[in-house]
Amino acid sequence: MGLLDDRKGLIFGIANDRSIACSIARHVLGEGATCGFPYLPGEKNERRVRKALEGIEVTDPWVAPCDVSSDADLDATFAAAAERFETLDFVVHSIAYADRAYLRPGAFALTPRAVFAQALDISAYSLVAIARRAAELMPRGGSVVGMSYYGSEKAIPGYNVMGVAKAALEACTRYLAAELGERAIRINTVSAGPVRTLSSMAVGGIDEIFDWVSRKAPLRRNIDADEVGKSVLYLLSDLSSGVTGENLYVDAGYSIMGV
Ligand code: NAD
Repeated sequence: MGLLDDRKGLIFGIANDRSIACSIARHVLGEGATCGFPYLPGEKNERRVRKALEGIEVTDPWVAPCDVSSDADLDATFAAAAERFETLDFVVHSIAYADRAYLRPGAFALTPRAVFAQALDISAYSLVAIARRAAELMPRGGSVVGMSYYGSEKAIPGYNVMGVAKAALEACTRYLAAELGERAIRINTVSAGPVRTLSSMAVGGIDEIFDWVSRKAPLRRNIDADEVGKSVLYLLSDLSSGVTGENLYVDAGYSIMGV
């Protein structure tokens, strides 16, 4: 028996087989869930998401193009999901974007208004837009999980506007949890340590961060995407039935250190 037998959900954010969302999918499908996979529109993106899903042996996956900065795309995706799945039990939000020109040490103060607004829209507001639509398909309650990073709390040179977006994402999680709890919908974030993916490679100085974490984290190493996948599985399953509005660190303990 799987932890997610008979559960249905959407996993946003697979770009390729290195995406954290791909590791999440592997664990979620392995525990019996049925999933759909919205992806950033584009032929190349569709090929990559299908290839990543082949790698975890998903046959005939339900994939749907969805730019989360577009309300029309979100409406179409959730309408199609309602047709395909009728109801949903979980949603994974594993999405972030900011113009990489401003993701380098020393560039935060230079962030233009439009770059700031786009980063916050795609990386934080989209959680609200997705949760609202998902809630309508969750008559028996459900679980929503977003992905955060320690740069939401501390200034990490190079993470810049993305850190501000992650602070907003964590605050959105608490407000959504407070409002949707009476409908038995739980919303949490996982604060993952650095993992080598397309997105993290856009952050200036990332190699120094990997090196620093491996020397200073209590476990004296970096984490991998599989460890994030397992923790998200916990938050999506009944094992975490009493947990909402939380931010769960999966960072080899790095965030507890003072020096
Ligand atoms: P990734 O590049 O594989 O995933 C990011 C995803 O966001 C991609 O699938 C991309 O297509 C999607 N995306 C961007 N803009 C979009 C839009 N407008 N509409 C729809 N989708 C859009 O990288 P990842 O590291 O797997 O990132 C997943 C999540 O994990 C992000 O929220 C990221 O901030 C977070 N995170 C990553 C790390 C890390 O070190 N890799 C650490 C902590 C948190």
